[in-house]
Amino acid sequence: MTNKIKRVFGIDLGTTNSSIAYVDDYGKAVIIPNSDNQRVTPSVVFFDGDVIVVGDVAKESSKLYPNDVVSFVKRSVGEPEFLYEYDSKIYRAEEISSFILKKVAQDAEQNLGEKVTDVVITCPAYFGINEREATRRAGEIAGFNVRQVINEPTAAAIAYCAEDPLTKRSVLVYDLGGGTFDVTMISIDSEAIEVICTGGDHNLGGKDWDDRVVAYLVEEFQRQTGTTEDILEDPDTCQDLLISAEKAKKILTQRERTPISITHGGQRVKVELQREKFEEITRDLVERTIAFTREMLNEAARKGHDSFDDFILVGGSSRMPQIAARIQEEFGVTPKVYDPDGVVAKGAAIYGWKLALNDGLVQKIAENHDVGEQSNEEVLELSPEMIVKEAANELARETGYTLPAVESSLIKVRDVASKSFGVVVRDHGEEEMVYNLILRNTPVPTEAAKTFYTAVANQETVLIRIMENETGEETVPLSYGMEIGTAVLHLPTGLPADLPIDITFKLNKEGRLSITAVESSQARKVAVVVETNAVINGEELEQAKARSQSLVIH
Ligand code: AMP
Repeated sequence: MTNKIKRVFGIDLGTTNSSIAYVDDYGKAVIIPNSDNQRVTPSVVFFDGDVIVVGDVAKESSKLYPNDVVSFVKRSVGEPEFLYEYDSKIYRAEEISSFILKKVAQDAEQNLGEKVTDVVITCPAYFGINEREATRRAGEIAGFNVRQVINEPTAAAIAYCAEDPLTKRSVLVYDLGGGTFDVTMISIDSEAIEVICTGGDHNLGGKDWDDRVVAYLVEEFQRQTGTTEDILEDPDTCQDLLISAEKAKKILTQRERTPISITHGGQRVKVELQREKFEEITRDLVERTIAFTREMLNEAARKGHDSFDDFILVGGSSRMPQIAARIQEEFGVTPKVYDPDGVVAKGAAIYGWKLALNDGLVQKIAENHDVGEQSNEEVLELSPEMIVKEAANELARETGYTLPAVESSLIKVRDVASKSFGVVVRDHGEEEMVYNLILRNTPVPTEAAKTFYTAVANQETVLIRIMENETGEETVPLSYGMEIGTAVLHLPTGLPADLPIDITFKLNKEGRLSITAVESSQARKVAVVVETNAVINGEELEQAKARSQSLVIH
């Protein structure tokens, strides 16, 4: 087989575990095992002198060196306050995430004997602008060409669809991972994979189930020893309990009960945790996922999609039997547990493969026809069918892939905005509020414009405060939104009050936002550079990249 397509790897950068996949010479997505021959690598980073250790050893080290180990860093990406200090150096969440990416890629390189350069990385649908940008930066720091950041449920749907590409259906993807929960309705047919609606909670995942078990164990320790001490204040005990709780939780997926021992301050206590008790202390967490699912279904119904064909469960935490049971009870369907650890990375790899094949097709078309300055998508969408077909035939011959495989790369993937985006404005009563230009669940790419007016005469600057929020309303109170960046439009002196300023928001298909502001009387156009300190930038980014190149990662 003469495979001329550049390999694009798919990486699922998970809260608790990460994995990497590629599409093999037969067009099949495959998870690449790590150096311990495991399909997933714990997303845990241990700072051990000059060496960075990622994975199982790091996870184990958290017992002995809790302060030198970072877990669940994904919950902090895009948060400017998250700064981790080790050996007088400050690390942002992006940089710590880059170590995880580097480790999974390094192991894949060893396994395949091939360099990982181009990647598609996944993030929860629920991620906002800063978190997405930070995810991309993590990949760049690790030295990759990040082809795209795509949503986890979309990736799951792509992998699911690849199993049976011809059947038209609506799929509900319930993704309960280690730290996040997403629920998404996706419509699939042979032409397009289209996200209808998405919802979820950035801060709900398997870790919360672990925390409930830890709290129960603390109570049991106090009850059995008669102490009132908060044993979680001891970092060693706390780490121990977290690890035991997660193990116990996983055992309860298979068995009805599990013994757990707690050692603290020279005392040892034994607890037997029953599945029934476990389900009782975590019931409200399951209910939260059900409420989010209902809410999303209502929204989908408002958009004209009032039923679904398949309900698939992804994310490691969806293995807990209480999840499928509760879904069955609530929605009257039997959900399918679909390769919960591998499906997201596989979908990302298939998407990467699609991008690479699309590059190949466009190259073939450009060899024989003038495509001008058009983007790959435009070339494939606007070229006559015959020309695309001819390019597909040639590419299939050259690469050894079958024609249907090459043609399957033409499938369109359409996502939606997972948040609403707007600016801070004042109403006539001088109250500040958020005016949303783009509403959540709008298909992307999208563009929206609105005219606002300056407040006073001689106003020299207009401060544009860009806000992200989870409501679906056009105007919302300021407190509902989160500021994700600001931009300043400078005006000349001597202008009257009430000067119209046109603000345009553009959200690309990857969920990246760009903004322009135009002062319309003089047509002074400013392409606004959104300033955000939530994402690693400039000098700091370059330093992190340089540091990453010289780091040893195990
Ligand atoms: P993910 O982020 O999709 O890798 O999901 C990881 C989460 O799934 C962690 O909270 C794990 O504890 C949890 N998990 C993995 N396997 C199981 C299992 N067999 N039973 C319950 N939870 C699990």
